[in-house]
Amino acid sequence: MNAEIIAVGSELLLGQIVNSNAKYLSEQMAHLGINVYHHSVVGDNPDRLTDVLKVATNRSNLIIMTGGLGPTKDDLTKETVAALLGKKLVYDPETEKRMDMYFKQRNRIMTENNRKQAMIIEGSHVFTNEHGLACGIGIKTSEYQIIMLPGPPRELIPMFNKFVTPYLKGQISKVNHIQSRVLRFFDIGESQLVEIIDDLLESQTNPTIAPLASGGEVTLRLTVMGEGEEKNRNSLDEVEEKILSRLGEFFYGYGEDTLFENIVKHLKEKNKTIASAESITGGLFATEVTAINGASLVFPGSIICYSNAAKRSLLSVSNEILNDEGAVSHTCAKELAEKVRINFQSDYGISFTGVAGPDPLEGKPPGVVYMGIASKDRTVSYELKLAGSRQNIRERSAKYGAYYLLQW
Ligand code: ATP
Ligand code: MG
Repeated sequence: MNAEIIAVGSELLLGQIVNSNAKYLSEQMAHLGINVYHHSVVGDNPDRLTDVLKVATNRSNLIIMTGGLGPTKDDLTKETVAALLGKKLVYDPETEKRMDMYFKQRNRIMTENNRKQAMIIEGSHVFTNEHGLACGIGIKTSEYQIIMLPGPPRELIPMFNKFVTPYLKGQISKVNHIQSRVLRFFDIGESQLVEIIDDLLESQTNPTIAPLASGGEVTLRLTVMGEGEEKNRNSLDEVEEKILSRLGEFFYGYGEDTLFENIVKHLKEKNKTIASAESITGGLFATEVTAINGASLVFPGSIICYSNAAKRSLLSVSNEILNDEGAVSHTCAKELAEKVRINFQSDYGISFTGVAGPDPLEGKPPGVVYMGIASKDRTVSYELKLAGSRQNIRERSAKYGAYYLLQW
């Protein structure tokens, strides 16, 4: 199946809104293992929309449209598709009933404009809109199918998840069993990672390997189509093994869970707790950890000790360390990690002290960060040399904390 996405709406062409639906739909297609070859955007104009549809129906067999299903005059998607296919618009009784209820509940009268949203193309499949009025519509011909979805993301996304995904899966699974697996990496840039497995990326067609970088993490999505679950799993295992034989040292987990979700899970499994002493990160580590469900089981708290005075008064770091070695040092990082562990009586203590920039500190350039991790038996300090903006350096420091902790 090769797909394309058409976003309808003059406000997209005027630059008033970002075409986030196309991004979302493309992502979903990738999850389903369906190739997307084209994106287009067209205004609320029936002639130009017809032109775009003619091109699309000639080259793709799945066309997903978003926008223009609403009640106003400029919402013309289904009218234009119906005209192109030579089909009539008819009222869908289910949608009409749902709309009647909607207006009754709100004590409002349904206008003729609104009723227009209950119209579907004859012979089409209806996708219920649980978050708005306009239903989604799927229509098939012998050569292609067109799926029309509402423009507002808060209507489109739940509709796609609940109704369109199973609808498409039903069609795909008759031909292929699709399975995918996500491998997660940290401490390596996307371009470097891609270079290391360049030959695999080039030669692999089933499973395919799709890299994605986001927030300093790189993921590889392996997608396989085959004849059965076991065969699929074996091919995924085989490719995973090849990848990890080269990139194993940067690998930290599977699936959609981020570094912080992984660290909370890891600590929960080990029944351990961690407290943080944060200078350069100013509480970012605590913010990220506490954003995860179940953080309270593993995270008693954090001390933000930004100034030297705070390091002295809140965690009794000695003047000798601060004056002789400096706050940005292995010794200070270790001391902070040990002291905060004792302070919170946690299993681990972690600390972050460094230079966020733009100016150097204690003769050290921006990006130099020391991160201490202490347990009852040992204390280690890691030196990081990060590049990027001040915010970037601080965020990456917190992530490195989670990444190194996973190895404890
Ligand atoms: P409505 O019933 O709200 O009129 P609709 O299906 O007719 O829905 P549009 O009128 O095209 O959709 O767009 C309505 C709103 O949905 C836009 O103002 C915008 O906020 C959002 N929207 C539309 N298309 C997109 C898109 N491609 N990406 C992100 N948001 C979009
Ligand atoms: Mg509209």
